[in-house]
Amino acid sequence: MNTRKFKMNKLISLNRYFFIPIALILFFLTFYMIYGDIKSNTINDFNKEQLILAETASQGITYFFDDYQSELDFLAKFQEVIDFSDETKTLMANYYETHKSVVTAITRIDTTGVILYTYPYNQSAIGRDISYQNHVKQVLDNQKPVLSDVFMAAQGFLAIALHVPVFKNKIFVGSLAVLIPIDGLGKLYLGKIKNRKNGHAWLLSEKGIEIYCPISGHTGESILETTEHDDSTPKVLEKIKNENRGTGKISHQDRDDKTNASDLYYAFYRIPLGNTYWTILISYQEKDVYVALSRLRNRLIFVFSLLFIALSFYFYSLTKVRNLLREEAKRKEAEKTLHKSEEKFRKIFDDHAAVKFLVDPKTHNIVDANKSAANYYGWSCEDLKKMKVGQLDVLSSQEIKKNIESVLFENNNQFESKHQLKDGSIRDVEILCSKIRIDNNDVLHSIIHDVTNRKSAEASLQEKTDKIESQNIKYQQINEELNERNQELIIAKEKAEESDHLKTAFLHNISHEIRTPMNAIVGFSGLLNDPDLPPEESQYFTDLIIQSSEQLLSIITDIISIASIEAGQEKVQETEININLICKLINEQFFTNDTNPDVSFCLQTPLADEQALVVTDSTKLTQILTNLVGNALKFTQKGFVNFGYTLKDNFLEFYIEDSGIGIPAEMHAEIFKRFRQVESTSARTYGGSGLGLAISKAYVEMLGGHIWLKSEVDKGSVFYFTLPYKTVNSKAIPKLPLNEVKSEFTKPKTVLIAEDEDSNFVLLEKFFLDMKVNIIRAINGVEAVAICKSNPQVDLILMDIKMPEMDGYEATERIKEFRPNLSIIAQTAYSTEADRNKAFACGCSDFISKPFDRELFRSKINEQLLQ
Ligand code: ADP
Repeated sequence: MNTRKFKMNKLISLNRYFFIPIALILFFLTFYMIYGDIKSNTINDFNKEQLILAETASQGITYFFDDYQSELDFLAKFQEVIDFSDETKTLMANYYETHKSVVTAITRIDTTGVILYTYPYNQSAIGRDISYQNHVKQVLDNQKPVLSDVFMAAQGFLAIALHVPVFKNKIFVGSLAVLIPIDGLGKLYLGKIKNRKNGHAWLLSEKGIEIYCPISGHTGESILETTEHDDSTPKVLEKIKNENRGTGKISHQDRDDKTNASDLYYAFYRIPLGNTYWTILISYQEKDVYVALSRLRNRLIFVFSLLFIALSFYFYSLTKVRNLLREEAKRKEAEKTLHKSEEKFRKIFDDHAAVKFLVDPKTHNIVDANKSAANYYGWSCEDLKKMKVGQLDVLSSQEIKKNIESVLFENNNQFESKHQLKDGSIRDVEILCSKIRIDNNDVLHSIIHDVTNRKSAEASLQEKTDKIESQNIKYQQINEELNERNQELIIAKEKAEESDHLKTAFLHNISHEIRTPMNAIVGFSGLLNDPDLPPEESQYFTDLIIQSSEQLLSIITDIISIASIEAGQEKVQETEININLICKLINEQFFTNDTNPDVSFCLQTPLADEQALVVTDSTKLTQILTNLVGNALKFTQKGFVNFGYTLKDNFLEFYIEDSGIGIPAEMHAEIFKRFRQVESTSARTYGGSGLGLAISKAYVEMLGGHIWLKSEVDKGSVFYFTLPYKTVNSKAIPKLPLNEVKSEFTKPKTVLIAEDEDSNFVLLEKFFLDMKVNIIRAINGVEAVAICKSNPQVDLILMDIKMPEMDGYEATERIKEFRPNLSIIAQTAYSTEADRNKAFACGCSDFISKPFDRELFRSKINEQLLQ
C-alpha cells in the first residue's frame, strides 16, 4: 500500500519536472509558427510593395518613350526633316535645346545607315556608316520605330537610341533618332525605388543587357556575364521571359565565396516598349526582412517570455497551494491519530504493570505517575504528581539535569541510578527514558525498573568472573611454563639424539682409528720374533710399527685433549717462543723425503727472528699447526700445501692453504664441532677422529685469536687463525732456539730410573745406551726416595708417576726435601696439561710423556744434565 502511494507521489513530482520542458517546447513551437506566418506575410507585402514600385517606374518609362516617340514621329513628318535641308539642322538644334536635360543628341540617318547630321554638331560622326548597329539595321529593314539596347554611341558614351522612320510619300528615306544617355534615364526612374539595405534595382533589356545598374561598370553589360558566378540568374531571366510580372526567391551565390549562398527575394515587372520590352528587376535579401521583423520578433519574445513566466508562476503557485492543502489534511489526520494514540497511551500508562512517570524536562516536575509507581514508591499518585524527580532520585539536581539533557540532545535513553522509597529504603533502578509529545508539550516518558536484585547478582557474578579470570591467567602462565619446558625437552632430546648419533659415529671411527694402527703394531711385532727374518724386512716392520704407534699416540692425544678442554682443565702456559722456529719444525716434521711427491710445499715466515719472538703457549700453537698442516696434507693428493703467517694489526695471521678436495659451504661451521667430519659414512676415504679442528678452535680461542676458513669443493681450502702479537723485551730473554741440541755431557752421570714396568725400563735403558750414564733402577716411589738418600751422586731422576706403594708425585716431593736442586724429569702416560702442571708443582724440572720420542728424550736429558 505504502509502496503504491510512494510510486504515485514520485510520478506526480516527476510530472511537475516534465511540465517545464514540455511547456517550453510548446511555447517555442507556437512562437515559431506565429513568427513564420508573420515572416511570410511580410515577404508578400514586401513583394507587393516592390511590384508597385516597379509598376510605377515602368509607367514612367513607358510614358517617357511614348512621349519621345510621338515627338520624334511628329518631327519626322516635317518636310525639312524628310528632305534634309539646312532648316532641318535648325529644327534639330531647337529640338535638342528644349530636350537636352534628357537627350544628348539628335541624329538624322539616310536609307543606308550613314549619319547625315547630328546635333550637337560632331564633325567626326557625320558621314559615318552606323548600319552595323543592330537597332539601325532593324529600322532600315523594318522601317518601324526601334528602341535600341544599350550601346556605345558614335559620340562616345553609353546610350540607348530611339529611331523613328522618315517617309517621303510613304517611301522610306531614313530615320530620325535621339540618343538618351542611359545613366540619366535609369537614375530618373529606378533611382527612386527604395530597395532595402542589401537590395538592387535593375533595368534589363529583352536580351538581358543591364540598361541600368547601380553597380558601377555593370551598365551596358549582360546580366548573365555580371552574375556569371550565380547559377540562379538564367532561371530568373527565363521566368521574366514567360511572365509579365512576378516574384520569387533564389539562393544567391556570393561572387568571391561560391560556397556562401544566401536567400534572395526578387520582384520583376516587364515594360512593353514597341517592338521590345524592358524589365524592372528589384532584389532584396532575407536579412532585410529580418531587420524589419526584428522589432516584432523581440516584442514577440518579450510577450512570450512574460506569458511563460506568468504560466510558470501560476503552475508553481497551484502546486504549492495543492501541497499546502495536502499537508494541512495530513496534519489534521496526524492530529486525529495523535489524539487517539494519546488516549490509548494514557490507558496503557495508567494500567501498565511497569513503574512509569511523565516528567517535565524543564522543571523536573513529575507530571504524572501510574498506579504501579504509587505501589512501588509508597506515595499516592496525587502525592507523586506534586513531587520533583530529585525527591526520589539520590543524584544531585546537576546530575539529574545532565541525564535529562542526554535524553533530549544525545539520543541516550537509558541510565542507572538509586531511588528512595517512602519507607526510606534505597533501591538500584534502571531508567528507560524517551521524549514524547502530549498536548503539544514535550515530556519525558520514564519507565523505572528495580534492578537491586540483579545488581547484587551481577556483583557476585563479577566476583566469580574475576576469580575465574585470575585462575585463567595462572593457568595460562603454567601453560606457558610447561610449554617452555616441552620446548627445552625437545631441544635437549634433539641434542641428546644428535650427541648420541655423534657418539656412535665417534665410537665407530675411534674403534677403526685405534684398531688399524694396533693391528699393525700387534701383527708386525709378532713377525719380528722370527729369528730368520732378514734384517731389511725386520727394519721395514720396525718402521711400520713406529709409524703405527705414532698414529695411535696422536689419536689418544686428541681424545685426551678434547676431554681436558671440555672439563675446563686446559690452561695456557705462556713462554717466549720463536714462531719462525716452530713453523720450521712443523715444516721439517711433515715435509720429508717420504712426503707425496705430487704435492709441493712452501713456508713463509716474513718476520726476522728477533721480531718472531712472541709470548704464547708453544705446545698449543704446535698442536694447532700440526692439526691444520696434517689435514692439508691428508686431503691433498696433488698440487700444493703452503703455510706461514703475516702480521696484521698487531695480530699474527697464520694461514694453511691447500689445493685439495675442499669443503662444501654448509660444512664450514660444522667441521669445527667435535667429531664432525665431511664424510660421515663408514665408507670413508680419509681417516681421522673428527677432533683436530675442535681442539684447534678451542686452543686458538684460548690464546686470544679466532679461526676461520675459505674453501670450495674440488678447489682447495685455506684455514686462517690469528694470535695476538705479544712481543717481549728481547734482551731479557735468552735467545735459545728450541731445536738447538746442546752438546752432550762428557763426564759420566748417574741416573735413577723410577719405573715399575719392566718393558718401559728396558726401553729407557736402550735410549741411554750410547750416553755416558750409570743407571740405577727403583721399582716404586719408596725405593726411589731411599736410593736417593743413600746415593748422593745421583744426578738425575726419571720419575714414573704411577707406581705402586708411593707414586711419583709424592716421591718427588720427599726427594726435593733433602735434594732441592736435583733434576727430576717426570715420565708418565698421564699426558694432560693437568698432569704436567701437577708434576711441576711437586718439584719436577721437566715432563716427558709416554710413549717417548727418542730425539726429544735425549734433548731433555742433555738439557738437565748440562745445567
Ligand atoms: P679429522 O681430520 O681427524 O677427521 P678434523 O677435526 O681435523 O678431524 O677435521 C674435521 C673434518 O674437516 C675432516 O674430517 C674433513 O672432512 C674436514 N677437513 C679438515 N681439514 C680439511 C682440509 N684441509 N681439506 C678438506 N677437508 C678438511
